[in-house]
Amino acid sequence: MKYAYNPKSKCADEFINHEEIMETLDYAQKNRHNRELIDEILNKARERKGLSHRDAAVLLDCDLEDKNQEIFALAEQIKKDFYGNRIVMFAPLYLSNYCVNGCVYCPYHAKNRHIPRKKLTQEEIRQEVIALQDMGHKRLALETGEDPVNNPIEYVLESIKTIYGIKHKNGAIRRVNVNIAATTVENYRKLKEAGIGTYILFQETYHKESYLKLHPTGPKHDYNYHTEAMDRAMEGGIDDVGCGVLFGLELYRYEFAGLLMHAEHLEAVYGVGPHTISVPRIRRADDIDPEVFDNGIDDDTFAKIVACIRIAVPYTGMILSTRESQKCRERVLHLGISQISGGSRTSVGGYVQEEPEDEKSEQFEVSDRRTLDEVVNWLMGMDYIPSFCTACYREGRTGDRFMSLCKSGQIQNCCLPNALMTLKEYLMDYASEDTKKKGLKLIEKELQNIPKEEVRRIVAHHLEEIEKGNRDFRF
Ligand code: SF4
Ligand code: SF4
Repeated sequence: MKYAYNPKSKCADEFINHEEIMETLDYAQKNRHNRELIDEILNKARERKGLSHRDAAVLLDCDLEDKNQEIFALAEQIKKDFYGNRIVMFAPLYLSNYCVNGCVYCPYHAKNRHIPRKKLTQEEIRQEVIALQDMGHKRLALETGEDPVNNPIEYVLESIKTIYGIKHKNGAIRRVNVNIAATTVENYRKLKEAGIGTYILFQETYHKESYLKLHPTGPKHDYNYHTEAMDRAMEGGIDDVGCGVLFGLELYRYEFAGLLMHAEHLEAVYGVGPHTISVPRIRRADDIDPEVFDNGIDDDTFAKIVACIRIAVPYTGMILSTRESQKCRERVLHLGISQISGGSRTSVGGYVQEEPEDEKSEQFEVSDRRTLDEVVNWLMGMDYIPSFCTACYREGRTGDRFMSLCKSGQIQNCCLPNALMTLKEYLMDYASEDTKKKGLKLIEKELQNIPKEEVRRIVAHHLEEIEKGNRDFRF
């Protein structure tokens, strides 16, 4: 059956339409050195209202050196205008690696019989969360495999409750984002009621034919059910959703167009695009050799993708994980990344206990193995402000309310003050001496960059209160 492209449709084959993607790629290729058109698109992008997938695809394909420099410079400028020099910190928390799916790129696939299978008890979750709080984390991304027997929704809900309930010393997890398999509207409603931040689900690949081959068995094999998950999440009341693809599985140009079409679909139907976009690249893991996937992308292409996403969806946060090395992170941070993980463990129970070599259960090899303190120190050394802010959803700023504040630029009045106050908490409670010294100096300097005098005065007061031991101030 032939489907027609329709961003307003709720059918995956229509809002991620294969023919439309193929035509887009063809159009981009034909115009890759069409100077006039590229200038026109860049001018449109300078209005900071984003770009259509077709326009963005032309920029991604552009091979004119001077225009590419303009693309990078514009991405950098947009990043500065919308996100300043702040980088929000988070960590993943793996609850269980039991999984009934057959994803060929993931070591947790059901046929992998030699990987140790683990599922945390509520007490083990407590221990993991205490370890995370002791590092200084306030924002987590929960991860589990799909397994209705071992990891039913009730287990996930109970775990969220456990996590929010743990207050160790001055620590607290203030935002739990959840990355679990596509599920029903009813289950999304339950997650919303449990107080989750963002619901994250990676599409892996938008190319349906490849998707079906890469997911040969298990419920995830159902491409349409998976691709329409964000629609069900929205219907269940979750208005902050996080999209992403696993770069390396299919041709990156295809994925890029699909990703933006997904964002356009959510915007067209629900009035709000994705809250975040993640840009993972395939990594080595138990039973997984990334060389087998011949669509891997090099660092130059990766940087271009990050820059073009930044330009195409300026209001959408962009997440980079410890899959990427320090060097690669340094290269793309300024092009548009707004959130990174630090000190991550990608195995079940990995924060409490490092796994012995022959019992590895991590989902992928971490490239950036530094501690959170080292990452925070490194960011400040490059003049970034590491932020542990979780304020928006706690203040009810989600979905279209959040997006309208972003679009009007008003959110900026909250982000910088919150970044400084949460960084100060981190410095007082968890930082090494050197990090603390650097951080206090940075806060003093950045305080002067808060434009409104009244806000500056309040923040200065809260910073003093934090020094006295009070916590959790926010705008
Ligand atoms: S990617 Fe997710 S669903 Fe697929 S095997 Fe891994 S844990 Fe299971
Ligand atoms: S104020 Fe909102 S948008 Fe800004 S950093 Fe905090 S949670 Fe994110």
